[in-house]
Order: sequence, then C-alpha cells, then structure tokens
Amino acid sequence: MDIKNGFVGAVGNTPLIRLNSFSDETGCEILGKAEFMNPGGSVKDRAALYIIQDAETQGLLKPGGTVVEGTAGNTGIGLTHICNAKGYKCLIIIPETQSQEKIDLLKTLGAEVRTVPAVPYKDPNNYVKLSGRIASEMENAIWANQFDNLSNRRAHYETTGPEIWAQTDGKIDAWVTATGTGGTYAGVALFLKSKNPNIRCVVADPMGSGLYSYVKTGNIVLEGSSITEGIGSSRITSNMQGAPADDAIRVDDHEAVRVVYQLLKKDGLFMGGSVGINVGAAIALAKQLGPGHTIVTVLCDGGSRYQSKLFNRQWLAERGLLPAV
Ligand code: PMP
Repeated sequence: MDIKNGFVGAVGNTPLIRLNSFSDETGCEILGKAEFMNPGGSVKDRAALYIIQDAETQGLLKPGGTVVEGTAGNTGIGLTHICNAKGYKCLIIIPETQSQEKIDLLKTLGAEVRTVPAVPYKDPNNYVKLSGRIASEMENAIWANQFDNLSNRRAHYETTGPEIWAQTDGKIDAWVTATGTGGTYAGVALFLKSKNPNIRCVVADPMGSGLYSYVKTGNIVLEGSSITEGIGSSRITSNMQGAPADDAIRVDDHEAVRVVYQLLKKDGLFMGGSVGINVGAAIALAKQLGPGHTIVTVLCDGGSRYQSKLFNRQWLAERGLLPAV
C-alpha cells in the first residue's frame, strides 16, 4: 500500500522530469524537479509545511490560531491549504501587481486576502513588513516570515535536496534555479555541496533583480524589469545568507517566454514564468559546460496561474514579448 496521509502527507516526493526538447538540443540532461505537482500546485508547499510544523513544535501556533504572511501568491496558497487541513486561519497580504488568478484562488481557498500597493522593501508599507506588523498586533497569530525564517530552506535541505540526489543517483553536475526567498536554491545547494562539493551551484536571475550582480561583483545593482512573478530580490535574505554560489546567469523575458512556449508546444509542459527563467538558465549553463552534463532545475508552478498574462497573446504583444512560435 502507498497511501499519503492527507494534504500534508502528499507534499514533496515530486518526479524529476527530463526536459526532452532542450536536452536533445543541448546534448545535456536538463532535468526539472516537478514542484508544480505538489498538492497545492507549487514549490512553496514545502516551505509552508515546514514553517507551520516548526511553529507548532515551538508552541507558537495554538489551535484556532492564524498564520499571517506577505506573499506573491504561491506561499499563501500552500499556507492556506495547510491551515485548512490543520484547523488554522490564514491572512494573506499580497501586492496588487500579482496575477488575478492567484488572488482569486487564495480567496476561493478561504484565506482572508488584503491586496496592497507594490512598494519597495525599504518602504515601511512594503507587503512583507506590513504582514509582520499585522501579525504582531494579533492574538494567537504567527508571522510565517518566509524570507528570513530558516524553516523555509530547511524544508529544501531535508527534502528537495535529498530527493534530487536519490533520483539522479548522485550523478548531477550542476544545480541552477532562480530565487524569491532563496529557500529552494539555498537549501538544495547546501545539501548537494555537502554530498559533493564539485556540483556547480548557479543562481538564475531575472532582469530587475540584484542577485546576478551580487554573485558577480559583490554589489546589488537593479537593472530593467521582468514579467515573471515570485522571483528576483533586492536584498540578501536570511535564507540566502551563506548559500554557495559558483556563478550566476541572467535570463531576460524574451528568452523566458520562448522557453515557456517551447515547453508547452514541444514537451507538453504548461509552466509558469519563473520556469522560463530557470530552464533558460539551465540551457545557458549547458552551453557553457558542453554536452554530456546533467543539470537540475525547478519547475516551480503551472501555467494556469498566469493565463491572463503570460498565456494571453495580446498582453504579451503589448509588451513586445510575443514568441515567434
Ligand atoms: N517561482 C515561483 C512561481 C514562486 O512563487 C517562487 C516563490 N516565491 C519561486 C519561484 C522561488 O522560490 P523560493 O522562494 O524558494 O526562492
């Protein structure tokens, strides 16, 4: 018998999928960790589960309590599913620039959702800081604090990393993924380096994010912008601190859109925008390393969360991003 214990038991143990069209084109094995197959539909189910479980273990979250979080969407979706399954309430603060699909889904799932203007991190009304303030003013509530709560990266150190190691039988040359909180990148990179320090760990970065310049020069420089959601950072979060990074690769939206459409048309995979950045970086890395290498990245979430933007041809055309195919 192979039966998972409820929603919580179904988180993780996702397949590792060979991305056939890009693997064949580059001569490398480009493998995607299928995090969109988590029960809440994204990589963030893992962090959400660890954050809630750790708060329970520490006695911070008591029956009937509320989990408060500032999130671009997927963490909130994961948290709300788990709160429902465990009898907690969920309050989500989300920037109004995020896709309507994610905002509607959060409401449907039962979260209390407050949309707020998107302002930089240094502003006291930034959605992350606001969520922390609101949580501190409530009775029997915790702030999930995914950016700086190390339960997030521990989820990936203890689950995603070991799964990738086992699924590849340790035959992995490189790990590359973009970061939002950095939990996925850092947790997996720390685990893989502990197994084999020769595994190349590379940060993928969209335009408008400062990590590419940080890895290359030690300074955070923000240039341009991106239509992708949930990734990119203007600071080094606690989850990213101390994470090994051998290199960084920047991928622009044209390449990300091309990759996402090829994944759909040639591989049958319907993916969100951050996957375009991740796989775009894996392709660039394959070209750097040459044929015969195994490169692992993340398929963070599915395309249905972005139908009104990334999969809306008029929306893409207005931004000069319509793919050739
Ligand atoms: N892709 C998407 C679509 C996301 O929502 C997130 C999380 N914000 C990420 C990638 C990055 O994951 P992490 O927070 O672990 O860096």
